[in-house]
Amino acid sequence: MTAHSNNTPTRSKGKVYLIGAGPGDPTLITVKGLELLKRAEVLVYDYLATPKLLKFVPKDAELIYAGKKGGECHAHTQEEINQMLVDHAAAGKIVVRLKGGDPFIFGRGGEEIEELAKHGIAFEVVPGVTSATAAATYAGVPITHREYTASVAFITGHEDPTKETSNIAWDKISTGIGTLVFYMGIKNLPFITENLIKHGRSPETPVVVVRWASTPIQQSVVGTLATIAEVVKKEKIKPPALIVVGEVVKLRDTINWFEKRPLFGKRILVTRTREQASELVRLLEDQGADCVEGATIALAPPDSWEPLDTELNRLGDYQWLVFTSINAIRFFFTRLFERGLDCRALAGPKIAVVGTATAEILKEYGLAADLVPEEFTGEGLAASMVAQGVKGCKVLLPRAKKAREVLPEILQENGAEVAIVPVYQNVRPKDYDLVRQELAEGGIDMVTFTSSSTVTNFLEMLGPERDTLLAGVKVATIGPITARTAEKAGLAIDVQPKTYTIPALVESILDFYGK
Ligand code: SAH
Repeated sequence: MTAHSNNTPTRSKGKVYLIGAGPGDPTLITVKGLELLKRAEVLVYDYLATPKLLKFVPKDAELIYAGKKGGECHAHTQEEINQMLVDHAAAGKIVVRLKGGDPFIFGRGGEEIEELAKHGIAFEVVPGVTSATAAATYAGVPITHREYTASVAFITGHEDPTKETSNIAWDKISTGIGTLVFYMGIKNLPFITENLIKHGRSPETPVVVVRWASTPIQQSVVGTLATIAEVVKKEKIKPPALIVVGEVVKLRDTINWFEKRPLFGKRILVTRTREQASELVRLLEDQGADCVEGATIALAPPDSWEPLDTELNRLGDYQWLVFTSINAIRFFFTRLFERGLDCRALAGPKIAVVGTATAEILKEYGLAADLVPEEFTGEGLAASMVAQGVKGCKVLLPRAKKAREVLPEILQENGAEVAIVPVYQNVRPKDYDLVRQELAEGGIDMVTFTSSSTVTNFLEMLGPERDTLLAGVKVATIGPITARTAEKAGLAIDVQPKTYTIPALVESILDFYGK
């Protein structure tokens, strides 16, 4: 079959990368797989390749869903998929073919590569974490263990039971292999267990069935070869699921770590600006929660760049350039560079920042702050500047369109001349449909608010249906001011920490769920 295949590099950059996406948790893709994903010009992906990986693909890449949900109508036939890969690579494109788990384990990856080879298309294959090992691990089962098994087999459970001769040597695998993992076997489960017992495996052998392994909606049930088919029927376990058979399943009582995390099974909506959400999301996810990010604020450039452009032309007139937020720094420099300038334009004024985080960001642009106050607030910054003497000084303050006035006011009171220029503004995100849909489907257990503006924006975005959408959803607020805003707006508060920090909020959520 592969007689005339070759993988000689061609001069054209067109190439197909067949990549394993891993079992479901997007962070289980390999580093190499992720690097290639970021370079894709065309992405052809499957039902089992988690959609959460799509955000890493360049925005201008062409995304093609190849479908193939077991038993349901296929988005494309295998022949069409093969042809697509050949055509796009032949056109000089970097094509990423992303498949769930490992591409060569029951994924028809071999067939796709044979087709590429036949057409002389260059390719590489990146293995992935296959769902069998992930399912076992995430269900608390070490797939091998010195005391229980010396061998493991991956077997398709998809074979037609009415077929006269099976490709599976049931007599041999039943007793000859320690751990057995069946892919695509839910429909045939009674047939599989009967066959194993018939060929000599003890009916008492423990079995675990794992659905959507490694994802926040993972579900697992246990039984024995004699009982598991009934259990799966009763619990209505549907594909995609794996069947793990063997004595190692007993270790689950000790090792089951994933499903035992305190917030496992809880879906929490985090309403912050996208830029800020990460700490809360990370801490909640560490505890096993499934976070949905619903940004209520987005950042946008100011309505006009004219005020900043004017000042950029006369930066030499200023004694101080002051940044009170990371966003202000980012937007300021984006515009500076857009105008064809660079850091040398800032040689004149001294630079003050509000705290160490802003100082760090400034460093990214190759600049050291001349002044960082001891107290990281507008008041603290004003006091430090005043202590250095600001009388008669010209101060440039690029910042958000709407911001607290305390800093410029104190500086002016002390004789400085302050020019405020807007370099960004907070706007409402356009697309809130996904969050609405999640709420409507009853998928959200709790919503978190970390500022009054997130409460107000969120409720406005939900509109008149808010009470229906929020029925049964628990509410967590970070501090008393946010809580008051939420209560005034008619929400009942379920979680409110004693200290007003993100880690304390997470602690209180754990307390609330009794963990
Ligand atoms: N190449 C894939 C397997 C594709 S066959 C891999 O290496 O994992 C499709 C079957 O894989 C499904 O029917 C199911 O049995 C299994 N599977 C894939 N992802 C799964 C998951 N997250 N949880 C449970 N089973 C999964």
